[in-house]
Amino acid sequence: MGTAGLESFAADESRSIGRRYEETKAAYRGEYQRDRDRIIHSTAFRRLVYKTQVFVNHEGDLYRTRLTHSIEVAQIGRTVALALNLNEALIEAICLAHDFGHTPFGHAGQDALNECMRDFGGFEHNLQSLRVVDVLEEKYAEFSGLNLMFETREGILKHCSKKNAAELGDVGKRFLNREQPGLEAQIANIVDAIAYNNHDVDDGFRAGLIGLEQLREQPLFGKQHDEVHERYPDLDDRRLIYEIIRRMINTVVTDLIDQTRANIKEFAPQSIDDVRRAGKPLASMSDEIYAQHVGLKRFLNKHLYRHEQKLAMTEKVQAILKDLFQIYMTDIDKMPLQFSSAVDKQDKTSRARVVADYIAGMTDRFAIAEHERIIG
Ligand code: MG
Repeated sequence: MGTAGLESFAADESRSIGRRYEETKAAYRGEYQRDRDRIIHSTAFRRLVYKTQVFVNHEGDLYRTRLTHSIEVAQIGRTVALALNLNEALIEAICLAHDFGHTPFGHAGQDALNECMRDFGGFEHNLQSLRVVDVLEEKYAEFSGLNLMFETREGILKHCSKKNAAELGDVGKRFLNREQPGLEAQIANIVDAIAYNNHDVDDGFRAGLIGLEQLREQPLFGKQHDEVHERYPDLDDRRLIYEIIRRMINTVVTDLIDQTRANIKEFAPQSIDDVRRAGKPLASMSDEIYAQHVGLKRFLNKHLYRHEQKLAMTEKVQAILKDLFQIYMTDIDKMPLQFSSAVDKQDKTSRARVVADYIAGMTDRFAIAEHERIIG
């Protein structure tokens, strides 16, 4: 065991690579706790409330937004961290910031912006999440960004091309050396998918885009459905769905904890560097549950994310972002002064990046309002 009852291979601030800009230690908070607090006080965090997870914000009040999604991810992440004696504050920080780089309108928005940026280095939401905490937040007198700990940044950058990794310095190295991140980062990554798989079943069902009969064909759902139905045969569909979803989350999370424990026992890491050099992720589900989890993910991809009702919305919102991109590229003064003044007017690539940063930071409704205001 390391400090404060944590495992010796948990992230430990006293052995961390630390922050990019040196700072005096906080008086009564740990450094990862401090990161979590910085993330909660950031502008990007408040914007998550008006950003699409799957359903565009104005489609309904009860659907998940990026904010409630991120909180659910953090909740599951903390549970797993505590069960495995890992660094809870670090997992929470990574989970709360993991989607900071998302554009308005979710994946539809990111695809549109990526297309606009094709000749200027592309746009990738995960890389953008790191860019938000490293560069774009303007909260401190002495540096740009939030100056987070290395392990928090490592966890936020889930994936990265070799080309981008080479430009990122310390935090990009593992993609070049084929190393893993620490366990807190590995778990944050997995619980993200656990959270959206489950809450998207709930949201998709409420929206009437996916039905019980369809869902029952998914083993993960079907098994829990039959158990709940046998015990409570007269339950109405709303309660039935919730009973099934919480059992599904429990099944997958318990499996993740058990399998990760077994992996740790087998590999016996002594430090976070052992975890990084293990050659494969030590956080994982069993083969059987993982297959069911991926099955459900594929099901949602086919029947919910690509539902024709969603695709109609996709075209509409992509047009909004593409219009905005063209407008700002043509007339940089249509952007607020803080952005337009940062633009090198001669260099089209740097101009495109500033435009992409501005658009990516928008909430759904701001993008719609801005589009309306300029185009009318
Ligand atoms: Mg997410």
